[in-house]
Amino acid sequence: MTTAGHPSTSGPAPQADALGSSRAPSRRELLRFAGALGIGSALAASSCTRATAGGVASPSGAPSQVPTRPFGRSGEHVSALALGGYFDALNNQAFLAEALALGVTYWETTLSFGGRGYGEYFRRHPQARARVFLLAKTNGASTEQMNQELHATLSDVGTTHIDFFTIGSLRDGSLLTPAVRRWVEVTKASGKIRHFGFSTHTNMEECLTLASQLGWIDGVLTTYNYRLMHRPAMQRAIDACAERGIAITAIKSQALETNPAATIGEESEAASQALSRQLASGRDPFAARLHAIWDNPQITSVCSMMTDSRTLGANARASFAREPATPLRGASARGSVAAPSRRYCAGCASVCEGALPAPLPVADVMRYLMYARSYSDRERAHREFAALPPSVRAALAAQDYRLAEQRCPEQLPIARLIREAVHQL
Ligand code: SF4
Repeated sequence: MTTAGHPSTSGPAPQADALGSSRAPSRRELLRFAGALGIGSALAASSCTRATAGGVASPSGAPSQVPTRPFGRSGEHVSALALGGYFDALNNQAFLAEALALGVTYWETTLSFGGRGYGEYFRRHPQARARVFLLAKTNGASTEQMNQELHATLSDVGTTHIDFFTIGSLRDGSLLTPAVRRWVEVTKASGKIRHFGFSTHTNMEECLTLASQLGWIDGVLTTYNYRLMHRPAMQRAIDACAERGIAITAIKSQALETNPAATIGEESEAASQALSRQLASGRDPFAARLHAIWDNPQITSVCSMMTDSRTLGANARASFAREPATPLRGASARGSVAAPSRRYCAGCASVCEGALPAPLPVADVMRYLMYARSYSDRERAHREFAALPPSVRAALAAQDYRLAEQRCPEQLPIARLIREAVHQL
């Protein structure tokens, strides 16, 4: 299948069932497709009304640039596809040029890789800095640390300002203190940051709702994908942020799982139908997952981990299609009705971690397993797991998870998965 210019190593085509309707591909088919594109490790993740408006047309009339969307109510537009920062930009300078050529102008720097790669590119191509909307992260445990990490990034990138400065991996509101608010105001006034917010892949709905209430959060990167978008709490949280003009960037967009080996067709009915709708419009499974997000005009951008030209091209070309998926009718509208979702950790850490006598980062460990098993990024999984204090790793191994398993809405075998993480990571 060559939908939207995708590589010939295309994914499983929508298959006709006995009624002639399109069905969602099985989990195995999706993973096989991800592997064929090399996106097991590269897709994931990392806001227009009609979302895909704004693409630049090539001489043939087909769009050849990633479209842009408003960054909340800031008055600025950013590319609807953002370049995730978990790659060695220093040794991939040509890749950065390719990203710009495709209109991918929203770039993430990460604490682990820093901004030196981008800095080298801007040193060689000074005119490029003005085109890039630069996102940087801090661990944000204190304003001193935020200050230090901001200045380290400014120095690495060789720039005077960060466009969007975020606290990484927020789990609750404990870091969003009045002191941080004052720091944000002062630092914005100094011109060193322009917008402020956070990223979250744990307790996302609570964090998003808080962002909508605080009044000083400009943008949020949140786990958001075709599975989570149907949860009423997520819809309410996204609505609340959109109402306040907060820019939402989706990360973990492919909804890859903690334990892919154990899953076949385990999509919820709503998620399955969301994919079926996209597939019926001729998109392959990978593009279908992205478009399920882009069809929501409340979403500013999808931050995707793209580490080579092939994945960059596949992501960018997916964004060129301007039309939203057509509504399904008749038998097709029923899509693939499958068993409730299992094996997908939804990031609701307050549920499982709240069932433990002492705090332990269960949801984080599920995410590390996802990096190892679905992204095939064992190095990142190892690195992040190894960063946990030895006492926490020991407590994880010794903990009784029976109550947490009873409460887990996704019915994950938490004890077994934690045991596997402790042994394998
Ligand atoms: S393990 Fe279950 S309860 Fe815990 S964050 Fe994942 S889905 Fe939620």
